[in-house]
Amino acid sequence: MNSEKLKNLKEKTEKVIENSQKYLMPTYSRIPIVPEKGEGVRVWDKEGKCYIDLVSGIGVMAVGYSHPRICKVIKEQSQKLVHCSNLYHIENQAKLAEKLCQISFADKVFFCNSGAEANEAAIKLARKFGYQKGAFEIVAMENSFHGRTLATLGLTGQEKYRKWFGPFPPGFKFCEFNNVKKLKEMITSKTCAIIMEPIQGEGGIKEASPEFIEAAREICTEKDILLIFDEVQCGLGRTGKWFAYQHFGVEPDIMTLAKPLAAGLPIGACLAKKNIADIFSPGDHASTFGGGPLVTSVALEVLNIMEEEKLVEKAKEMGKYFRKKLLSLKEKFPFIKEVRGKGLMLGMELDIEGKPVMDKAREKGLLINVTKGKVLRFLPPLIIKEAEIDEAVFILEESFKEI
Ligand SMILES: *Cc1c(COP(=O)(O)O)cnc(C)c1O
Repeated sequence: MNSEKLKNLKEKTEKVIENSQKYLMPTYSRIPIVPEKGEGVRVWDKEGKCYIDLVSGIGVMAVGYSHPRICKVIKEQSQKLVHCSNLYHIENQAKLAEKLCQISFADKVFFCNSGAEANEAAIKLARKFGYQKGAFEIVAMENSFHGRTLATLGLTGQEKYRKWFGPFPPGFKFCEFNNVKKLKEMITSKTCAIIMEPIQGEGGIKEASPEFIEAAREICTEKDILLIFDEVQCGLGRTGKWFAYQHFGVEPDIMTLAKPLAAGLPIGACLAKKNIADIFSPGDHASTFGGGPLVTSVALEVLNIMEEEKLVEKAKEMGKYFRKKLLSLKEKFPFIKEVRGKGLMLGMELDIEGKPVMDKAREKGLLINVTKGKVLRFLPPLIIKEAEIDEAVFILEESFKEI
């Protein structure tokens, strides 16, 4: 590219950033690039610079950018019917629900538009479940993340997100993650549900211990309490199984999904066993856009692609490969404390701040994410190949050397 053209593109980028800062509410500390197109595991910014993307929209772009089958479905469905209200039966929505039930423990699904909304549905379902008994308390975990609405923030056990926004709806309590004794102590006759992420995402890729998940299941079964798994981030193949709970051999009563389900279009889903799902009656819950024909046609295609391209198995294999490479970096750099996670949901905890590493990697054409200040979080598209992991790890290593 000649220097005149590059200068022009840089100016355009700066203009976007300027407008963004001027006209958008300052809710994000945005990274100063303007992505313009993507293909596979790569994105290009407005200046034409190419990046390997190991964040993939915070685990959203599981089938990669611009998958030809996704583009085709969007085009074809958009020419038929984009929206149809839930006053009517929506064919793709029913098909998607059937498919999600076939691959999970669940029998019925409610569709909405985000992870937070999926958790809102789960909260309302749990509240109605407990209503007769006067049980309304929900026990959530410290260090959790369930969304930004008032109720889901109320269940999010991280002060940095909650500060300024209380009081929250009453009836939410927090238990130390992986502490069975504390969990037992928190359950009362007023408890209607326990909610947790089998692998905490925003919390820094922290896995539930098998003992803790098993104990939670036992307590719930024994005391007639609902077990809710928030698999918004860890679900749908990312950990090398369809759902993270399948690593533990423990089934929830309710599960929520969102991030990767519709390849970047907004969707959320709340799944439940039949006897629980049927507690809802017409009018109890609704969403104008939830489960619309376009987004559900795309989600169906995502699941088909995941099956046909064997992406769940690939997440497991590539996850192993990636983890091994990250562990080899740990041998070389003493400030790397730990590598953890399952499949392609991996975290690398450092002794130092993660942001300089992220900035350096970006300069060199690699997008990574930092959570909890010191944890590098990797949520690449599940279609990632060995050669792409090699390239990414090479850049990461160079970045470590330079900081
Ligand atoms: C991202 C996330 C949410 C919130 O999803 P939104 O679509 O942003 O509302 C909820 N739970 C978990 C575990 C998440 O990672």
